[in-house]
Amino acid sequence: MLADVGAIGTGFLTTLKFLFKKPFTQEYPEYKRPLPERSRARIVLTRDPDGRERCVACYLCSAVCPVSCISMQAGEDENGRRYAVWFRINFGRCIYCGLCEEACPTSAIQLTPDFENCKRDILSLVFEKKDLLVDHGGKDPDYDYYQHAGVLNRLKGKGDHVGEAPPTNIKTNLP
Ligand code: SF4
Ligand code: SF4
Repeated sequence: MLADVGAIGTGFLTTLKFLFKKPFTQEYPEYKRPLPERSRARIVLTRDPDGRERCVACYLCSAVCPVSCISMQAGEDENGRRYAVWFRINFGRCIYCGLCEEACPTSAIQLTPDFENCKRDILSLVFEKKDLLVDHGGKDPDYDYYQHAGVLNRLKGKGDHVGEAPPTNIKTNLP
């Protein structure tokens, strides 16, 4: 009996102790807690330092996505550079796992900390390329895939770049 009264008293004391203290609760959306830069939320498509689209429509992000929410169509410009003619992400299905970012060889697709991406109309969660493209390089502002692999430039030929193997002769792969 005494132990019960003691327990109730301790409970009231704890309540009293916190009654006049500033609450720990942070009101949302009045207060928007800053998130770490590497938090995984809304996805963007970034550009290289020259402002060109980084995405080369290799389909790796689409292949690795566990919920199949990325789709695109590849195209090639007059210089032979591949790009995504259209690129679509269905955020209604995305689980923000970050695998697409891990798989991307050009650092094009990146997850950002912007988590305020909820809509009542589920169809408005389907983002097209124009909604995804940003005009900066995101977490990797200086990286330019085309300065590292598979291209001729002023200094080096195909296969001569850092860590790059010589181009494969596709005819040798024929059966
Ligand atoms: S974060 Fe995960 S689920 Fe979302 S698009 Fe990328 S791979 Fe797919
Ligand atoms: S975003 Fe990256 S992985 Fe996806 S198609 Fe473009 S270059 Fe390939």
